[in-house]
Amino acid sequence: MTIDLHTHTTASDGTDRPAELVAKAAAARLSVVAITDHDTTAGWAEAEAALPDGLTLVPGTEFSCAYTDPNGPRISLHLLGYLFDPDHDGLRAERARLRVSRLARGRAIVDNLTADGVAVTWNRVVEIARGGAVGRPHIARVLVENGVVGSVDEAFRNLLSSRSKYYVPKADTDVFDAIRLLRDAGGVTVFAHPLAHRRGAVVGEDVIASMAQAGLHGIEVDHPDHSPADRARLAQVAEELGLVRTGSSDYHGENKVFALGTCTTSRAAYEQLLSYGTAREPLTKGDALSK
Ligand code: AMP
Ligand code: ZN
Ligand code: FE
Ligand code: FE
Repeated sequence: MTIDLHTHTTASDGTDRPAELVAKAAAARLSVVAITDHDTTAGWAEAEAALPDGLTLVPGTEFSCAYTDPNGPRISLHLLGYLFDPDHDGLRAERARLRVSRLARGRAIVDNLTADGVAVTWNRVVEIARGGAVGRPHIARVLVENGVVGSVDEAFRNLLSSRSKYYVPKADTDVFDAIRLLRDAGGVTVFAHPLAHRRGAVVGEDVIASMAQAGLHGIEVDHPDHSPADRARLAQVAEELGLVRTGSSDYHGENKVFALGTCTTSRAAYEQLLSYGTAREPLTKGDALSK
């Protein structure tokens, strides 16, 4: 079984529509794919309706969170939530708040860039986002379109980096609140790419331990942004804290270079995660048709 538990569609900052994503997942011979768009469940219905034979869909989302060190900086981090009740009031309100905050924040980054003479317009960013949760990859595409940078990756290395003077943080959810909300909605929680240093500061093992204490179920050990040393360290953290070890591609279509199934989750880990969910089951074509 090939299991990829972290992908993005046009509902956030991926470039494949949800229906295209599930078709590509089947073509790539995945058995299980999770759709985890940033701060939204908007891609679920289209993906479910288009599910090909033999592919299982795990509905999920990637929550924009932050850890605030009492004596230190605020560190942004991502929490994957799976199989939660999308109608849970508190969780739905938090997703909506995050999506709204992405608009003001994206606009603020664009304003910072234009104030310095960089060629980018907010209207074009919104057009490219096509109604999906707006993120820096959309701004990056406009910068590529306008010839300011040669690639999305280059935009992230300088103008759009979290260390850039143009950067504006999002109004992220406190990570412990997010774990609590997702669990309250019957969902399963996995800490996404905990050691993706290239994106900004990362939290220490003490924070991962606190997250485990708060009810975190798993951590993404195998991820394209993790070096072999990062993976070895996280595998040990998973073992020590009794967390399920996952792996995934974090596929974003043309916005990133990593293919579906670049990193994968074992069947045993997947089944362990499923056993923690209390709200819903993964979907197959038969389920979609029987509704
Ligand atoms: P935002 O959510 O607006 O802060 O943007 C962060 C998103 O950009 C995350 O989903 C990342 O996966 C994506 N991202 C980070 N670095 C890169 C990169 N070098 N190329 C393309 N996408 C990236
Ligand atoms: Zn993304
Ligand atoms: Fe992420
Ligand atoms: Fe992601």
